[in-house]
Amino acid sequence: MMWKNNLLKTLRSDYMKILSEKFGHDESKQLIDILIESFFGYSKVAMALNPDIRLSESEILKLHKAVKELLTNKPVQYITGNTLFLDLELEVNRSVLIPRPETEEFVNLIIDKEKSENLQIIDMGTGSGCIAIALKKYLPDSKITAIDISQEALRLAKRNSEHHQVFIDLLQIDILNPDSFKSLEPFDVVVSNPPYVTEHDKKLMQPNVLDYEPHSALFVKNDHPLQFYEAILQFCKTHLKVDGRVYFEINEQQGENVLQLIESNGFHQGELHTDIHGKNRFATAIKKF
Ligand code: GLN
Repeated sequence: MMWKNNLLKTLRSDYMKILSEKFGHDESKQLIDILIESFFGYSKVAMALNPDIRLSESEILKLHKAVKELLTNKPVQYITGNTLFLDLELEVNRSVLIPRPETEEFVNLIIDKEKSENLQIIDMGTGSGCIAIALKKYLPDSKITAIDISQEALRLAKRNSEHHQVFIDLLQIDILNPDSFKSLEPFDVVVSNPPYVTEHDKKLMQPNVLDYEPHSALFVKNDHPLQFYEAILQFCKTHLKVDGRVYFEINEQQGENVLQLIESNGFHQGELHTDIHGKNRFATAIKKF
C-alpha cells in the first residue's frame, strides 16, 4: 500500500479502493470514515468543507496500520477502541463483546416495561457494561449492580461508567458458581445477555467475530445450550424478590426451550419477544414465590 501524498482527501480515496476489494464500496466508505473521525476528529462534513486537510507522517502511519488490520478481519471497533451503544459512546477492547444492535433493543424492552423508581437491578455478565450503564442513564433512580467473571471486562466497564458519570456496583462473580452469590442482596429485576451461541452455530459465524471476540462471552456447549439461563434462574430463586422480573437475551433457536425452563422452575408469565428481524430474541418472566 502506497500513498501519493499527504492530502487527506486523496488518502481516503486510495484506502477506500484498497478496502473495497474485501468489503465492497459502501462498507469501505463507512470504515474509512469511522477511522478518520475517530483518529483525527474530522467528520464527513468537515472533510467536505476543508478539502485541503493534510495528515502528518505519524497520522498517515496510524491510518495505514488500521487499514492493514481491517484487512485481517479485525473489527473496526477494536481498532478505534470505541463504539456507540444507543446514544452512549463506549470504550471496547478484546476482553468484551462489541455490543450488538439486538442488545440495544433489549435495553429498550426493559426500560419500556420498568418505569417505577428506586429499583434494584442486576446485570449478569456485563462485559463492556453497556446494558448496566444504559439502564442507569434511562432509569436514574435505580441502583445497578453488574457482575462478570472477567476482571479485565470489569475494569473496562468501570472506565465506561466513569466516563458517563454513573455509579454501577461492579463485582467479579462467576454466574456458574452459586457460592459467589452469597454477599448479594435481593433484586427487583434481573437482566442478562449471557453466552448463548452453540458450537453448531460457530460454523455460520464470520471471521471478524471468531478470530477477535472473546469466546468465553459467546459460546456454550451443544449439549448444554441453556447452562447460563439455568444458573441465573437458580440465582433468581434466592435473589429475586417476589413479583421481581427477569429479562433474558436469547438464542433465536432456543425460544421454546427457554420458556420451558422458565416454567419448569416455577416462574410465571414466561413470554418471548422478537427483535427487528422477527426472531425470538428476548424472554421475560415474573417470580411469584
Ligand atoms: N448476538 C451475539 C452474536 O450473535 C451473541 C451474544 C451472546 O452470546 N450473548 O454474535
